[in-house]
Amino acid sequence: MRAIVKRLRRPGAEIEEVDTPRARKGEVVARMAAASICGTDVHIWDWNHWAEKRIRRLPIIFGHEFCGEVVEVGEGVEAVAEGDMVSAETHIVDGSCYQCRTGRMHICRNLKILGVDTDGVFAEYVRMPEMNARRLPKGISPRLGSLLEPLGNATFTVAPHEQCADIEDKTVVITGCGPIGLMAIAVAKKMGASKVVATEMGTEKVRFDLAKRMGADAVLDASMGTEALVREVMAATDGKGADVALEMSGAAIALKQVFMMLTPGGRVSILGLYNDTVALDVNNAITFKSATVYGITGRRMFETWDKMYELLASRDLRSKITSIITHTLPIRDIEKGMEIIRREKAAKVSLAPEW
Ligand SMILES: [Zn+2]
Ligand SMILES: [Zn+2]
Repeated sequence: MRAIVKRLRRPGAEIEEVDTPRARKGEVVARMAAASICGTDVHIWDWNHWAEKRIRRLPIIFGHEFCGEVVEVGEGVEAVAEGDMVSAETHIVDGSCYQCRTGRMHICRNLKILGVDTDGVFAEYVRMPEMNARRLPKGISPRLGSLLEPLGNATFTVAPHEQCADIEDKTVVITGCGPIGLMAIAVAKKMGASKVVATEMGTEKVRFDLAKRMGADAVLDASMGTEALVREVMAATDGKGADVALEMSGAAIALKQVFMMLTPGGRVSILGLYNDTVALDVNNAITFKSATVYGITGRRMFETWDKMYELLASRDLRSKITSIITHTLPIRDIEKGMEIIRREKAAKVSLAPEW
């Protein structure tokens, strides 16, 4: 089969002919129908500092955002069958450690990530454990199916316990309108947030427009600076501050801002990842505010998936999330896709299995 293979510890990757994977015991093999490019993939392509430290095994087929049709099931597989369309949960877990045994598989002590620690989805065929192949509900196109991993991140960030009560009738501020921030706007509105205010740096018009399309009540230009930004959020929340603040940008300044924008007793979810250690005034940001803070990684397995599927019964949500795909390319043009994301002209680039 053909696959995008990263072989050397330097920028770039090649389309190569490699062995087609076969399903072993407890595994499935699916034929890729759509994949999408994540920021992580750009890091691996560019071979930046993060990739140099994080990627242990080369050569590797990378990519993890996926939708495909099951073509082979290994011994003992029961939950999925040949012909099923599936998306991929990218956290591959041991099922036996303390976290796995206590209902927290997404933070397994021996976690492996599809397309980072194991061969991933930029290939004609993809192998994964049965548990990671999530059968799609009706009405989900392959392109949308390939977005369920980041949509799961967004859903988990919005509602860490998958309860509408976490968000219903609440005012929400979301810092950062990259793909997952955009998805979080749509999910928060769908779950009944009374008002969603999003922030994004003013240079990205595509993101402003999409944030509106997702249903944001206001989109603020973060380049106005912290003081003005906080004032705007206060004004939008009757001077109270937001009940819920979601930090999705990975900018240190935004992490400080969300606590300033938060109403006392409010809740913060942090999905953003920061290049450096962040100094935070913990006394005022968290302690005296009696704030609740959630660190978000992956998706709850599989409560978040269930909640996401429930939300996706809405045609409106399906069409909003699909509209985040700004470009669709044949996978042979993946390098162009990387370039589009680097220039930030796109929200999401979807890849079709055209080699
Ligand atoms: Zn991703
Ligand atoms: Zn485990």
